[in-house]
Amino acid sequence: MPESPEAFWARSQGALRTPPVEEWDTWPFDGGVTPRALEPPVNAEPARAGEGGVDCWRCAHGDEDALWADEHWLVVPLSRPSGLPVVVILETRPHYEFHDLPDPLQAELGPMLIRVQRAVRAVGEVGNVHVCRWGDGSEHFHVWFMARPARIPQLIGSFAAIWDDVLPPLPDALWQENLAIVARELRDG
Ligand SMILES: [Zn+2]
Repeated sequence: MPESPEAFWARSQGALRTPPVEEWDTWPFDGGVTPRALEPPVNAEPARAGEGGVDCWRCAHGDEDALWADEHWLVVPLSRPSGLPVVVILETRPHYEFHDLPDPLQAELGPMLIRVQRAVRAVGEVGNVHVCRWGDGSEHFHVWFMARPARIPQLIGSFAAIWDDVLPPLPDALWQENLAIVARELRDG
């Protein structure tokens, strides 16, 4: 039997640990930290944006902000520059939950992941492209691609997603230039 959320919470809430973040080279902050109190379970999973395609931003806007699109897929940028050189999102055109992706799109997903990764890497001076899927905020199928700048070891690993908010936003012209490379590579690559 799986552990109930109530049992999970009861076991965990008084036993939270503080990992030695000051020893982690990739931790973005200085100073001590204290874990937040773990709030008890709620009665149901919080609603995600656009559940069931109702009031779904992507379904309402289609490919209007896409860098590239085909019959089944879109690649879209964030609405404004962030700290990393490129962050783009692969989405399906129709509304699907990640785990309900139909078989033909499942077969296309592997090649798409590599294709978008290559297009982001083509921007240059990219040490790695992080491919991430959480799906806790919005239901419409989406996968993140985050370019990590080359040769800055502090930015290695999963904290790059936090560094994206710590680093200053890219200058607009550079951001547009990088997105244009991604769009070109997706089109021609
Ligand atoms: Zn949708």
